[in-house]
Amino acid sequence: MPHRVRRLALVGIGLIGSSIARGARAWGLADEIVVQSRRAETVATAERLKLGDRYTTSAAEAAADADLVIVSVPVGACGAIAREIGPALKPGATVSDVGSVKLSVIRQMQPHLPESAHFVPAHPVAGTEYSGPEAGFAELFAGRYCILTPPEGANAEAVERVKAFWETLGSNVEIMAPDHHDLVLAITSHVPHLIAYNIVGTVAHLEEVTQSEVMKFAAGGFRDFTRIAASDPTMWRDVFLNNREAVLEMLGRFTEDLTALQRAIRFGDGDALFELFTRTRAIRRGIIEAGQETAAPDFGRPHGSESA
Ligand code: NAP
Repeated sequence: MPHRVRRLALVGIGLIGSSIARGARAWGLADEIVVQSRRAETVATAERLKLGDRYTTSAAEAAADADLVIVSVPVGACGAIAREIGPALKPGATVSDVGSVKLSVIRQMQPHLPESAHFVPAHPVAGTEYSGPEAGFAELFAGRYCILTPPEGANAEAVERVKAFWETLGSNVEIMAPDHHDLVLAITSHVPHLIAYNIVGTVAHLEEVTQSEVMKFAAGGFRDFTRIAASDPTMWRDVFLNNREAVLEMLGRFTEDLTALQRAIRFGDGDALFELFTRTRAIRRGIIEAGQETAAPDFGRPHGSESA
């Protein structure tokens, strides 16, 4: 039986916050859901979608008397939100977040949270390239990992409650040190996004290849980068500004390996290319076996008679 909270406050109601709202409602995780967003327009959309029971533009008002507060805003805005909600929290309240970077979020938020509140940072490793309350869906977290990075001395019961919350939403929960989280995500998520942004940017600057040729022949591989490069600019700006060291470390490794590939092509070293491409195939098989990707060709895009 999942632990049901009396009042759940969702501070930020975009793709992630609204998916939590929908899941919490579907699986009966809260008696009452209070929804907050800074712009009245977003709050009105959340209300139209019936994502909560009460609505406000004030984070402090949302957090007051809440048992669990989940902050789902861009990572660069987490400190300001913690400063706002800190004085409003009731003793024993649990505060969590969903930020894609952990060390920086902990450094920003922890100083503003009272000793009487329990802070359990989290990162659901699930998402799409869409943003806003309309983009969310209850099943977003099903079968995906959610990483908790509780600070040293965190309240064990609060960690268990947050773990049970995410498990009810369908996630597999792992506990990790925040700096290790940031390093792992730098190579599995942040650098791949940077590569996608870069390659799409490079294509946009090319003079020898026309834009209409790019559109026509995108299925040659470019198309799959454009999906990632369509991700929210604010969210990703904040990820790179807040996970600087780990991203630069992984980018250094990536650049060295790219230079080695460049040399292999220059000197016609087919064996080196073949050996690498064989190893990378095995990595994809591993991701499919871990249930984190479909084995269907071309990411399961419909072809031929199925595409009607
Ligand atoms: P989103 O759809 O763009 O929604 C962002 C929410 O944060 C909105 O409620 C927005 O309010 C609010 N917000 C934006 N800037 C703010 C500011 N400066 N101060 C206060 N509130 C602000 O974003 P999302 O995709 O849900 O991402 C939210 C968090 O989840 C980020 O920290 C991100 O790193 C993390 N995350 C994202 C993904 C993903 O794939 N998208 C996956 C895992 C984790 P208004 O609309 O009212 O302006």
